Amino acid sequence: MQNTKLLQAQGQTESIQMLSVQPDTKPKGCAGCNRKIKDRYLLKALDKYWHEDCLKCACCDCRLGEVGSTLYTKANLILCRRDYLRLFGVTGNCAACSKLIPAFEMVMRAKDNVYHLDCFACQLCNQRFCVGDKFFLKNNMILCQTDYEEGLMKEGYAPQVR
Ligand SMILES: [Zn+2]
Ligand SMILES: [Zn+2]
Ligand SMILES: [Zn+2]
Ligand SMILES: [Zn+2]
Repeated sequence: MQNTKLLQAQGQTESIQMLSVQPDTKPKGCAGCNRKIKDRYLLKALDKYWHEDCLKCACCDCRLGEVGSTLYTKANLILCRRDYLRLFGVTGNCAACSKLIPAFEMVMRAKDNVYHLDCFACQLCNQRFCVGDKFFLKNNMILCQTDYEEGLMKEGYAPQVR
C-alpha cells in the first residue's frame, strides 16, 4: 500500500484536497461509474476512489483532476472552484436596486459594483448593454454613451429620468 494519505475536508470552506494515488493490488471501485479502476493512477476524494475521468464538476463537467488539486462539495454536489463560488459564494447587493443578489444569479460587474442582469441598463434611457458595449459610470449611475456625453455638455450635470 503506498501513498494513500487520508484526506481532510476543511469544514468551513468545504474544499477538499484531491490525491493522485497509485492503486493497491486490489482494484478499487470508482465512485463515479462503479467500475473497477485499473488505471495507473486514481483519484481519492471524499473517502472514495475515482477514475481521473470520472471525478467531474457537477456543473460544467470539467475534469477536476486537471483543474487543480482542490474540489468543493456542497449538498452532495462535487464542484470546481469556479462553480462553487458562483453557486454558493456571496455576490452582494445590486448597486442599482440595492437588493441582495442570490449567489447563483448571473450578474454584471462594473468597477466594484455588481448588478442584477435586469438592473444593468442605462439609468436614464434604460438602454441595455451587451458584452463589449461601452457604458459609463457617473456618480455611481450607469449611463450609455449618449447620455454620458449629453451630460458632459450640460453644465451642472443633473440627470433627470425621462
Ligand atoms: Zn469511473
Ligand atoms: Zn465546474
Ligand atoms: Zn438590481
Ligand atoms: Zn442612456
